[in-house]
Order: sequence, then C-alpha cells, then structure tokens
Amino acid sequence: MCCNRACSVDTLDDDEIPAIWRQPEAGIAEGSYGFGYNDMFGLPSSLEYSASTSGNDNDYCELDKYTDKGVYVSLAANPERFTGYAGPNANILWSSFYDEDCFSNTNMAGDDMEDSATTSEQRLFRSIISGFHASVSTHLCYSYLNQTTQEWGPNQKCFEFRVGNFPDRLNSLYFNYALVARALVKLGEQIERNEIELFDQPAAITSKAKLLELIEALKEKPSDNLSTKRHLFDEKRMFQTFESQLLKRELRKRFYKISQLVDCVGCDRCRLWAKVQITGYATALKLVFEEHPTESANVAGTRLSKSEVAALVNTFNKISHSVQAVDYFRSLRNSQST
Ligand code: FAD
Repeated sequence: MCCNRACSVDTLDDDEIPAIWRQPEAGIAEGSYGFGYNDMFGLPSSLEYSASTSGNDNDYCELDKYTDKGVYVSLAANPERFTGYAGPNANILWSSFYDEDCFSNTNMAGDDMEDSATTSEQRLFRSIISGFHASVSTHLCYSYLNQTTQEWGPNQKCFEFRVGNFPDRLNSLYFNYALVARALVKLGEQIERNEIELFDQPAAITSKAKLLELIEALKEKPSDNLSTKRHLFDEKRMFQTFESQLLKRELRKRFYKISQLVDCVGCDRCRLWAKVQITGYATALKLVFEEHPTESANVAGTRLSKSEVAALVNTFNKISHSVQAVDYFRSLRNSQST
C-alpha cells in the first residue's frame, strides 16, 4: 500500500455537491448520486442500472454496483499526477494487464488469422493498454513533484525515459486519442437520433448541449493536428470476418478482467483515475464496435449508463492533455537541439 499524501483522494462533503445532482426530479435519489470512488460515478437510475448489469454481452468493463457507502469526489480537485506509487505492486499490475493480451501469439481460429486486417485487430488490445500506460506516465511526468524543491512541474527526463524515447508507445497514445474521439462522434450521432435515453432527463440538458458542442468541435477541424490523429482509427476495417468476431468476444472478456484488476491499484488517486479511464476505454470500445443497427429511432443503439458517459468524456480529457503534453515535451527537446 502507498502511504504517501499525494496518493490520497480528497472527498467532498454533502453540502459541497451541486444541488442538481441531488434533486429528486432528476430521477436521482437524494444524497446517493455523485462521483464516489467506491461507487465510482454514483448511483445509476434504475433504467441505467438495469442496462448496465443485465448481463449485456456487449460490456467491456465491470461497473461498480450501487452502494450507499460511496463518497463524493471532485475529479477536478484531484488531478492525475505524480504520486510516488511505484515498486512491485505497480509493476505487477502493469504486467498483469499486458498478460491479458493473449492475441499477439495465439492463432485462435486457424491460418486466416494471419491476414493483415486481423493483425491490426490483434494489436488493438495491446495498443489500448500501452496507450493508457503511456498516458499515465505522461501525466505523472508533466505534473511531477521535485522531491528536493517540493515544486510541481514538468520533468523532461522522466518523460523521455518512459514515453518520448519509444515511438511505439507514442503511437499507442495517439491511437487511444483516435479511438475515444471516434467513440464521441458516434455518441453524438446517437444523441442526435434520440437513441440515448440518459439525455431526456431535465438535469442533463446542459450536459447534452456541452457534449454536442465538444463533438461538433471535434468534427469541424479537418486541418487541425489533433483531428488528423483522429483519422488514425477506422473501425470499418475491423472485426468484419467471422474469425475476427471471435477475437472481439475474447477482447471483451479480457478487457472486463482488466477493469476488475484495477481495483488492486494500491494508491487511491491512481486507482480513481485508472478506474475512470479503463471505464472510458471500455465505453469507447462498446460505442465503436457494439453499435447495433436500430430498427426505429426509439430503439437505443447502445445502452449506456451515466457512469459510462462521464468516464468517456473524462478519458477524452485525459488523453487530450497527454497529447498536449507530448507536444510540449517535443518542442522543449527541439528548442534544446537548436
Ligand atoms: P512502469 O511504468 O511501472 O512500467 C513497468 C514496465 O512496463 C517498464 O519497465 C516497461 O518495460 C514497460 N512499459 C512502460 N511503459 C509502457 C508502455 N507505454 N507500453 C508498453 N510497455 C510499457 N503513478 C503516479 O505517480 N501517478 C498515477 O496516477 C499512477 N497511476 C497508475 C495507474 C495504474 C493502473 C498503475 C498500475 C500504476 C500507476 N502509477 C501511477 C504508477 C506508475 O505507472 C509506475 O508504475 C511507477 O511510476 C513505477 O514506474 P516504473 O519505472 O517502474 O515503470
């Protein structure tokens, strides 16, 4: 266990929680909805709860069950940064995440698996984990605590050592940006088609408008550097064959296992952000690869809980900041070499 102060999570008192989250008319029981880290994103409404725990076989992660022992946490007040969490526990966890990658060496369905499309599907799992790992490393190096001066700030050596010197890790980070951006665009399409029931609630009007604004901005900038990275990802080329559908099922199972392993992270703040992001990637995979064709506009394309949508948006925030930090470290290096 990590006993460092930087590892802890500051919780909110009841009176600090925005009233709108406690209003009964929002369909949310008073005092039981929020960003708790036992009940990570709070109590889903009964509709969402049944959607997320009904044994849907298109879920890529385990969502925490409702508990009234949850606490409220402001993500903004607990930024992801250097905590000092390291050593065997952290290393074993990362390697057990990678161990769940059974795809790279396994020929699961015969020689057809060797074609290039399937190879990219086999790489998907490792890319997401490696990109997530690179993003965590980038955040901790960007908000690093200098133990001598006790000042927080970017640590270039830390970044180069963990991420910058590894083109494959950088590629995975961009890949994750592209995946989550694509998922957000799909979410936007479903919202426009009124397929996401969550946004029918009065409390969700502002969130809906803000979310659509974000998604429009993502779609609008074809020449933007980040937008180019978005195009690294094209789901239409993936999971098209019967064999690759088997791979997808396996991927789902293994990602689900990782979402459970995250509970073993021995640092509260790292676990908080790891849970947010693994849930966010799981939601992105669900949106991108599990969208069912809808027969009418009233049938939900992908059933999502509030926790999943909140995790997706926050994961996009994290991966976007990582991409920004990579640009920062890159320009720092360029300025030093000229
Ligand atoms: P680690 O980062 O632990 O990496 C272990 C090994 O994995 C490396 O030696 C390398 O061979 C390989 N590797 C490294 N990066 C990649 C990659 N991108 N792709 C593929 N392989 C790779 N610490 C914090 O300070 N703040 C946090 O918020 C935080 N969150 C964490 C969340 C999780 C889920 C976990 C498991 C750990 C977290 N940590 C956090 C700890 C941090 O990630 C490191 O484990 C710790 O700093 C020790 O680093 P290390 O040098 O031993 O290498």
